[in-house]
Amino acid sequence: MTAPYVDLVHTLRQAFPQPVSDRVHDAYFAFSVLRTLDQVDALKSRQPLLGVSEVPDYDLARAQVMADQPRLLEEVSRQLVGYLSGMFIWGHPRAQINVVPPPTIASIIGGLLPSIYNANLVSEESSRRVAVAEVEAAAMTSRLVGYDPSQSAGVFTFGGTGTALYGVRLAIEKVFPGTMQQGLRQPAAIVCSERSHYACKTVAGWLGLGFDNVVSVPADGNNEIRPCLAETLCRDFLKNGGTIAALIATMGTTDAFGVDDLVALHGLRDRLVDEFGLERPPHLHADAVIGWAWSVFNDYDFDANPLGFRGRTVRALAAVRRKMQSLHLADSIGIDFHKTGFTPYVSSLFLVKRAADLAHLTRSRESMPYLFQSGVYHPGEYTLETSRSASGAMSALANLLLFGKNGLRALLGHVVSMAETLREQLEAHAATTVLNRGNFGPVTLFRVYPDGVDTFAMPELEQTRADHREQLREYNRYNHELFDIIQSEAMRGQGVVISLTDCYRETDYGEPVVALKSYILSPFAEEEAVGAVLESIWRARQILAERRRMTDSRA
Ligand SMILES: *Cc1c(COP(=O)(O)O)cnc(C)c1O
Repeated sequence: MTAPYVDLVHTLRQAFPQPVSDRVHDAYFAFSVLRTLDQVDALKSRQPLLGVSEVPDYDLARAQVMADQPRLLEEVSRQLVGYLSGMFIWGHPRAQINVVPPPTIASIIGGLLPSIYNANLVSEESSRRVAVAEVEAAAMTSRLVGYDPSQSAGVFTFGGTGTALYGVRLAIEKVFPGTMQQGLRQPAAIVCSERSHYACKTVAGWLGLGFDNVVSVPADGNNEIRPCLAETLCRDFLKNGGTIAALIATMGTTDAFGVDDLVALHGLRDRLVDEFGLERPPHLHADAVIGWAWSVFNDYDFDANPLGFRGRTVRALAAVRRKMQSLHLADSIGIDFHKTGFTPYVSSLFLVKRAADLAHLTRSRESMPYLFQSGVYHPGEYTLETSRSASGAMSALANLLLFGKNGLRALLGHVVSMAETLREQLEAHAATTVLNRGNFGPVTLFRVYPDGVDTFAMPELEQTRADHREQLREYNRYNHELFDIIQSEAMRGQGVVISLTDCYRETDYGEPVVALKSYILSPFAEEEAVGAVLESIWRARQILAERRRMTDSRA
C-alpha cells in the first residue's frame, strides 16, 4: 500500500505542465486554458463589462480558509473566472475610463511563456535567452526615444512608480556619492510640476527624502510645468544652500496629457550648474510612462502623411511629437508599456542614457555569493528586485515586434482621432466645454453645464474669479450628479463608461475643478462610440433638468 501522500503527489502532477513532451497532457493544458476562456466568454455581452457589476463582500472574503483537500483544476479555474465578473473590458469601444489599454494577444502570450517556464531576470543564469528579450526590448525602445543603445541600458521593473524610484535613487547617488554605502545624511530635493504623478511623492517618501522635499512647480493652463517658475524655485533653493537631486519632467500627465518642456528644463539644469558651479548636476528624469509611445512619430513624415491621418489628427500628433522629440535629453526615462503600449500589467521599463550610471547602484559580488556564477548579464547586481519577472519584458517585446512603428502609429493615430472627434462635438455644443484644449492626446476632460449658462465665458470666470466660487461649486455638484447618472446607466449596460476627476485643477482661488473624462484607448472605438458619449450626456442632462423642475415646483 502506498502512503496517502504519494497518491496526492501523483494526482497533483496532473496539475503541472509535463516536464517531458506528452502531447496528451499538452492537450489537457491547452484545453484547460481554452475552457477557462470559454467561461470568460460567457460573461461577455454587448456591454463594456464582464458579467455583472456587484458590490464586493470583503467580510466574506476575510472569512475564507484553506481547505484540507486539493481540488480539481477545473473547479479552481471556474472559480477564478468568477472573479472577473464586473471587470471593465478596456478594449470595448464604450469603455473610455482611464489610461488602461486592452492588451494584445501577442503581449498576453509574451507574458504567459515566462510564467510557464519561470524565467527570473535577476540574471542570465536563471533566464537564459529570455534575458536577451529584455535587452532587445530596451534597445529598440532606446532607439525610439533617441538614446544611443550602445551607451544606454534598461531594466523592466514594478511599474511607472518603480521607474521613478530608479531615476531618483540614481540621482541621489550622483549628488551624494557613497549614499548606497553610508546612507543618506543630508536632505535633497526633487523638483517637478504640480501636475506630476504622485509617484514623485511616493518615491521621495520611500527613499527617505520626504514628501516635504518635493518642490512642486506651478503648471500653466495646458498642464505643463512653467519653466520660468521652476528656475526661480530652483535658484531660491540653491541660494539657501539646498541640494537638488533630480528634476523630473512629466511627459504626458495622467489626467490631461500635459507634456513638459524638456528642452527648457534641460537648459535650466545647465544654467544652474554654471551659475552655482555645481560639481554634481541634478539628474534629469523624464516621467514619460504615458507619452513615450508618441516617439514612434519622431521620424514620421507629417507632410507626406503616408498613413493618411486627417488634418486635425496630424496637428494633434505633430504637437506632441515636437515635445517628445527631446526625450533623449533626459538622463533617464520611465516607460510604461502597460499604459500606451497595449500590454498587460506590469510592463515598465527604466532606461538610462549612460549604462555606466548603473554602476552607482551596484552591490558587490561578494554580497550575493550564490548568484552570478556564469554568464555576462546580471542585472540583479543593480536592480532593486532580486526575483524579477520576465513577463513585462517579453510582453513589451511582443508588441514592439507585432506593431512595428507603423502599427503603433496607426493605433495612436486612431485613438487620438477619436478623441479629436469627441472634442469637435463637445466644442460644437453650447452646454459642454473642453478643459484640456491645449493637450493633444487620447484623453478629453470636459465640463457640462445646465441650460442658460454662457459656456464661452463660464470656465474662465470659474477659474479666475473668486466671486464665482458658489457657482463653481454648484457646477461641480452638477457634473458629479451628471456623472452618477451616466455611470449607473453604463452599469446597466447603456451608454458609455467614462470617469470623473475630482480635481482637474485648482482655480486661482484654490477650489478644485471637477471634470468628466473620456480616455479612449480602444482600437475598436469608432465614431459611434464617440456619439454615445454625447447621447449619454444629453440623457443625463435631461434627467437633471427634470429633477430640478420637480424640486422647483415643490418649493
Ligand atoms: C501612471 C503613472 C505613473 C505611475 O505608474 P504605474 O505604472 O501606475 O506605477 C507615474 N507617472 C505618470 C505620469 C503616470 O501616469
